[in-house]
Amino acid sequence: MHDSEQLSLDSFSNSDSEEDPPGKRSFSDDLEEEPPSKIATTRYRFFGDIPDSLWNDWKWQFRNRITRIEQLAQFVPLSTKEQAQLKLVAMRYPLAVTPHYLSLINPDDPDDPIRKQAIPSSLEMTMGSMGVEDPLGEKEDTMVPGLVHRYPDRILLVLTDICAVLCRHCTRKREWRNGGWVRSGAEIETMLDYISQHKAVRDVIISGGDPLTLSNCHLQAVISRIREIKHVEIIRIGTRFPVVLPQRIDDELCSMLAKYGPIWLNTHFNHVREITPEAAAACNRLLRSGVPVNNQSVLLRGINDTVEAQTKLCHGLLKIKVRPYYLFQCDEVQGTEHLRTPVETGIRIIEGMRGHTSGLAIPTFVIDLPQGGGKVPIQPNYVLTHTEGELVLRNYEERVFHYRNPRTVARPEPAEVLCPAGSGTSSLPQEAAAGLS
Ligand code: SF4
Repeated sequence: MHDSEQLSLDSFSNSDSEEDPPGKRSFSDDLEEEPPSKIATTRYRFFGDIPDSLWNDWKWQFRNRITRIEQLAQFVPLSTKEQAQLKLVAMRYPLAVTPHYLSLINPDDPDDPIRKQAIPSSLEMTMGSMGVEDPLGEKEDTMVPGLVHRYPDRILLVLTDICAVLCRHCTRKREWRNGGWVRSGAEIETMLDYISQHKAVRDVIISGGDPLTLSNCHLQAVISRIREIKHVEIIRIGTRFPVVLPQRIDDELCSMLAKYGPIWLNTHFNHVREITPEAAAACNRLLRSGVPVNNQSVLLRGINDTVEAQTKLCHGLLKIKVRPYYLFQCDEVQGTEHLRTPVETGIRIIEGMRGHTSGLAIPTFVIDLPQGGGKVPIQPNYVLTHTEGELVLRNYEERVFHYRNPRTVARPEPAEVLCPAGSGTSSLPQEAAAGLS
């Protein structure tokens, strides 16, 4: 791969764009927490003079990201003092939000769940001494630049640190200070060599920074090379674009991905209000191209930390044929403590969903352990007592049941069956003898 195939960062510089978003408009309607078709957005209030042709152009959306606090103040009421505080926060943890994602915020609600994910908070600094920069110990598992090898059969590739929206709860927040990099052609060759040499690797995950910030040409160059490695069975892409910039998931991208399947895509919806018609259409395009879509959400204080919020989110996902896969305990990342919940909150949410909705709607609640310990599922305890012969279990209604625990017994000897006349006897498995085979 040549450097010329890399994403040109200049082409996405946003703050100096000629196409800056228009100024503040009034907002009066409350946003409903309802499925896609009923969601009101501020698009026509904030961006009413932007024609659909631009609004639906993902490069326009990317170029016109809001990255400065002064810009943000045109959309969201911020006092002079708040602006000064947030400028300090943004110096350490920058701001970036697409017009699409911004249009989902109710600017009059300081507790809006989309706002809390995208707009800096002074708590990022005041609680900033808590947590660590690299809670998952990814540096220790980085074998060559951009390649993390923790589990024997899976490899994570980080091709860039650029994202469409800088999520305030991001596990890789430490990368934001590095100013936007894309792995060079030589670095990618080194990654591919590493994968080729490790025959146990059957699953390659390309994740974030967000790989869909790269051009289709650049992505194809990497994906096609991974596909040539015989022992790689599946490729997974981790991206938040279906949520924050769904216009990126266009026919051109989908037909490219369709050529290199099996490709799975993991995305990151955290709240039902993110399931917009545009997001639903993006997921549908992926599914029609043979790319299954799973969701990995993060449990976030004041955003999705109730049974009701998670149930609405997961029901909304199933309606757009996206499987709720993981619900992550928010990692212990510096600058995110204000968004973290006690582990018990996640257990209570899963308990509140189990039995009250279909199992398909219930994600696996996991903690990604520090120092590279990997993911551990955390579940409510339904086993009251457990002996060799019996389990005593409670169900979702708190009713108690006794369940006989089958013991391992020696297999019975094969039955002796009589064969046709003159042929003697023969031994057959019991099922065959009973005519069940
Ligand atoms: S898209 Fe993912 S990697 Fe990028 S800022 Fe959000 S959580 Fe972090």
